[in-house]
Amino acid sequence: MPGRKMQTLSDLKRSIRKASQILLITHLNPDGDAVGSMLALSVALQKMQKRTVCVCDGKIMEKYAFLKSAGEILKPDRIDAVFDLAIAIDCADQKRMGSAEKLFFAAKENANIDHHGTNESFGRINIVHSVSSSGELIYELIEELGTGLDAETAECLYTAISTDTGNFTYSNTTKKALLYTAELIGLFDYTRTADYLYRTRTYENTRLIAKAIDNLSLYEEGRAALMYLCRSDLAEADVKNPDYEMIVNYASEIDTVKVAVFLRELKDGGYKLSLRSSGDLDVAALCAEYGGGGHKNAAGCSMNAPFEEVKETILSAVKKLLNA
Ligand code: 5GP
Ligand code: MN
Repeated sequence: MPGRKMQTLSDLKRSIRKASQILLITHLNPDGDAVGSMLALSVALQKMQKRTVCVCDGKIMEKYAFLKSAGEILKPDRIDAVFDLAIAIDCADQKRMGSAEKLFFAAKENANIDHHGTNESFGRINIVHSVSSSGELIYELIEELGTGLDAETAECLYTAISTDTGNFTYSNTTKKALLYTAELIGLFDYTRTADYLYRTRTYENTRLIAKAIDNLSLYEEGRAALMYLCRSDLAEADVKNPDYEMIVNYASEIDTVKVAVFLRELKDGGYKLSLRSSGDLDVAALCAEYGGGGHKNAAGCSMNAPFEEVKETILSAVKKLLNA
């Protein structure tokens, strides 16, 4: 990322050594990379006798509850301490921290570890590289810290790297991502973890997928797909622990589709958008125009407008992208 102020892992190690109370923050709607990376780093820092607190402004999905320390992740409003160091992990921009943003900037020192191309280096220390996952960067940081790998860190890092690479199938599946993962296998119960991540779904969430597929339409001669879930769909499905993560794939996997959009109505109004694209079609740039961001082929943003307006806005942006 040229022109940006970038620091090295050894700069971050120096700040970690100086700190005794360290706050770890990950993003809203936390995914496997967010939760896995944060917990792995927390375990490593605790081995250095650091006091760590993990926060996330959002519910940790039931799917990740199997991770040993997932229950220790707190909501930002439970915290009023000032930390020696705050580390944002997997946050494409500072707003992705939600209400934890103020804790980040209140800390005496702060660092931003992320792998999103749209990250604008909002930290004082920035470790931002376009690699497979934040988990890959945390793996390297743990190597730099010299705290070693154990069953818990390995399981967390595997969760991070494997989920962000689509179980090692997306184009971000690099040799390095696989080599790091190879070092993790054998340290934890790999098939049990894979069962939780890739082979388990509640009946309620299966019903939710059915509702979203019911609300799926194609546009632009089948090159675009849009699916949605409104509050009424959620109420009908009565899902206590909704999992939206993979829903957009049912649209993007349609053979003719180049850009897929999933719209989800939020509790307090407005919509959360998830976009997926293939090849050179850059949905991160598209989402950035609406205040969001992400990766070239997987990105998101929010829109605060009525459904028809949101739908029209995104479909016209997608049409422009497809015909550029
Ligand atoms: P998802 O669609 O799975 O929620 O997100 C896809 C990717 O886009 C993830 O890497 C996620 O971090 C990023 N992303 C999702 N929503 C936003 C957003 O509102 N702003 C930014 N900057 N990135 C987002
Ligand atoms: Mn990530």
